[in-house]
Amino acid sequence: MKIAMFHYRGRTSPGIVIDDRIVDFGDDFQTALDILKLEDWQLREVWGRAESRIISAPELVQSVADVTFDAPVPRPGKIMCVGLNYLDHAAEQGKEPPSAPMIFAKYGTAITNHLAEIVLPPNSAEVDYEAELCVVIGRTGRLIPIGEAYDYVGGYTIINDVSARDMQRQDKQFTRAKSCDTFAPLGPWVVTKDEIPDPQILSISLTLNGEVMQSSNTNQLIFNVPFLISYLSQSMTLEAGDLIATGTPGGVGVFRNPPVFLKDGDDVAVTIEGIGTLRNRVVSSQQSAVSSQQSVVSSQWPVVSSQ
Ligand code: ZN
Repeated sequence: MKIAMFHYRGRTSPGIVIDDRIVDFGDDFQTALDILKLEDWQLREVWGRAESRIISAPELVQSVADVTFDAPVPRPGKIMCVGLNYLDHAAEQGKEPPSAPMIFAKYGTAITNHLAEIVLPPNSAEVDYEAELCVVIGRTGRLIPIGEAYDYVGGYTIINDVSARDMQRQDKQFTRAKSCDTFAPLGPWVVTKDEIPDPQILSISLTLNGEVMQSSNTNQLIFNVPFLISYLSQSMTLEAGDLIATGTPGGVGVFRNPPVFLKDGDDVAVTIEGIGTLRNRVVSSQQSAVSSQQSVVSSQWPVVSSQ
């Protein structure tokens, strides 16, 4: 089942996507996460209601093409990210696969929507893309054994872990570089785990202006989904709505020869088998609808040149 948040004619609702239609559940639930947290039998009941509404309540059924999608989890408690987690991504950097996951964070304010703009900040010239499978935690837990890890998964979505490589170098760590506003496109929807019994066999790809830049499979993951959930939960409580960005495969822009960075007008699309396609347009901060706020920031802070 695909669970989304969407706008249609001034109304924002959680909805269930069935083929090319979306069924409005705004009278029943406030958020997509409210649906994702349900028990399996309750989810089956929601699915049954969605199917019957297509016939009985056409006013609650819209074409997917006519609605605007919000991120399915707009403000997660935490976004836990994994660096160097694909064999092909480690190889392109000439690095040995790590012996333990490399964990870092992205702030929730970076999240933006499917078909929304990725805004290039004025203080970076090296903004890069990273296609990633994103686990959405559906149930709170800690000290989770690997064998029980899937019980804590609500579903899966797509995240583009957009990254300012020059900020990474300046800071010698990732937080600021990965947390610029709009650097976490998320969506378009969450696919419940019953539809993806094994998240380690999914093709994953990214196109830039239609050209394939990343093409891999989650079978290249060094640390798989159950391991990551268990590993993270040894240190911190995982809460419903938390996100785990599981890492990106090879083909990112910074390691290409010559390097490729995002520029104004680019079209970036991430596709994961069984989930769908997350698409965004890139704009410079001057072109962006939020440029008025950002120009205040850029006039107060000097632009740091890259090394
Ligand atoms: Zn990443």
